[in-house]
Amino acid sequence: MNKQNKNDNAANRKSYVGHVFNIGEKQEKEIILNSLNPEWAKLHREGYIHIHDLDAYGLTYNCLTFDILNAFPYDRFKNLEPEETIVGVFDFIKELLAKIGNEQSGGMSFANFDKDFALIFKNLGVKVLQNHAIFKACIRSLILWCNNMHTRMGQTSYYVTFCIGLGTNNAERFLSYTLLECFGCAGDLIYKPNIVFKIKGGINRFPDDLNFDLLQTALLCTARKMIPTYLLCDCDADKNINPEKLSIMGCRTRVVDDLFGEAGAIGRSNIDNISINLPRLALEVDKEIPDASFEEKISLFKEKWRHVASVTKDILLDRYEKTCNADIDLFPTIRQYKLTIEDINKVGLRGTFKHGTLSIGFIGLSESMEVLSGKKYWVDDEVYNKSLNFVKYMRTYLDELKKQYNLNFSLLATSGEYISGRFVEIDKKLYNSPVMKKDYYTNSFHVDVDSRLPAYKKLELEGPFHIFANGGCISYIELSEAPIGNNEGLNELIEIAIKSGVHYLGFNFPKDVCKECGASGTFDVCPACGSKEITRIRRVSGYLEIQDYFTKGKMNESKNRKTN
Ligand SMILES: [Zn+2]
Repeated sequence: MNKQNKNDNAANRKSYVGHVFNIGEKQEKEIILNSLNPEWAKLHREGYIHIHDLDAYGLTYNCLTFDILNAFPYDRFKNLEPEETIVGVFDFIKELLAKIGNEQSGGMSFANFDKDFALIFKNLGVKVLQNHAIFKACIRSLILWCNNMHTRMGQTSYYVTFCIGLGTNNAERFLSYTLLECFGCAGDLIYKPNIVFKIKGGINRFPDDLNFDLLQTALLCTARKMIPTYLLCDCDADKNINPEKLSIMGCRTRVVDDLFGEAGAIGRSNIDNISINLPRLALEVDKEIPDASFEEKISLFKEKWRHVASVTKDILLDRYEKTCNADIDLFPTIRQYKLTIEDINKVGLRGTFKHGTLSIGFIGLSESMEVLSGKKYWVDDEVYNKSLNFVKYMRTYLDELKKQYNLNFSLLATSGEYISGRFVEIDKKLYNSPVMKKDYYTNSFHVDVDSRLPAYKKLELEGPFHIFANGGCISYIELSEAPIGNNEGLNELIEIAIKSGVHYLGFNFPKDVCKECGASGTFDVCPACGSKEITRIRRVSGYLEIQDYFTKGKMNESKNRKTN
């Protein structure tokens, strides 16, 4: 237990291909950093910012919600028996995930797995309900594939998200239900893919809604496995958007507004994102004007952020330009299956990627406000309002960039995989502050994970931030144990979340699985067999992972989590 694995990515396992990839990746990152404007590379090296997926710079984009209906290869399944067609379609999904997973640097998502595949099977002449056993077998196999295939870059599993919940006809409901049931029953060590349940009034939110039962099935699954998470389509930020157009990546990336078309995620990407280390800027302010008022400190903090953000914008633009000019042959699968909003073969990379987002992220709002004000932002009204105001300030800047450059800039509440520890490690060499004592910075605008605030309070505090973080964000509720049998409580929290402005919600609880006998619960010693060999499954940056493989910052954060 606690073997410290130095992997940058919590999902990694070892293999020779992975070993070779890692050596190449490290070198590629250096080459890319050295090729950039020295001021930009310096900001990254010194830990003011983190350029995510640096090795992919100018080669590919980050993530994509597939436009699966656009050019589905129906011809492939002509003249097949229904059983062959069903197996064939699920094989095709795996093929897509494996290929795209190696053509881009981040996650893949299906916006409406239930509705889209019910339609595809209808078009193929396959009756879903008459073939329920084989569908169940195929969905089970797909889940195991997502969980077990560490073939991406020779070492990592695929970041896959299936959004479900809106389909109300029998076939659609069956697909949602079966995905939830198979995932829920798949055993405690099966914790991928990510499933997102979309909640919408009139469809599944209220007891009279046709799919209310499906929501209850989803909550039961969450109570056992922390999955699904919930996209709250009735929240302030999303309520006026067609819920079928909404989608989310497991890592929380949100792509909605589009300068070049209708709002919605389908066929669109986040192109690139860079996170800014807020505590660093706050520590600088505090060092420069230690005796100034909170007001004055905030004002200098904003100034510093704007300077860093302005340089960050230049890097995002440079990367965007380079990605638009990349070799189109790097995207054979997207070309073949036309998974993007516009046909890449017709409009080229730029014509497609212009629909994507360029995001500036942030981490450690809590620590920054503590440095500037001496208080936790969530215990003091004045500091809370200033914090909200600062996030609004960041968003306003991104909206200005959007106008100025005619590109989809957005503000991302960064999840903090890797950087939460990396930033602290660098900052510790420069500053000595109590906010670094716990060896990680708090995720985006989140309340500290050890706040012990009641769940409803945490939602009410974090909710108002969601509408500003249009590039993606999530609020988590930390529960002390699996909330099995407490759907009522979870329904209540969902209602509070929607009313507070939360657009994406997750429930976390510690999940320990005995390596000897498979018993699960929350324990250091297995209550069934007495073994101390325990696998700990925790959520990291949106996806569930085994804690042994966590990065140092995330490991420390996870240890510090206290229940709400
Ligand atoms: Zn045991």
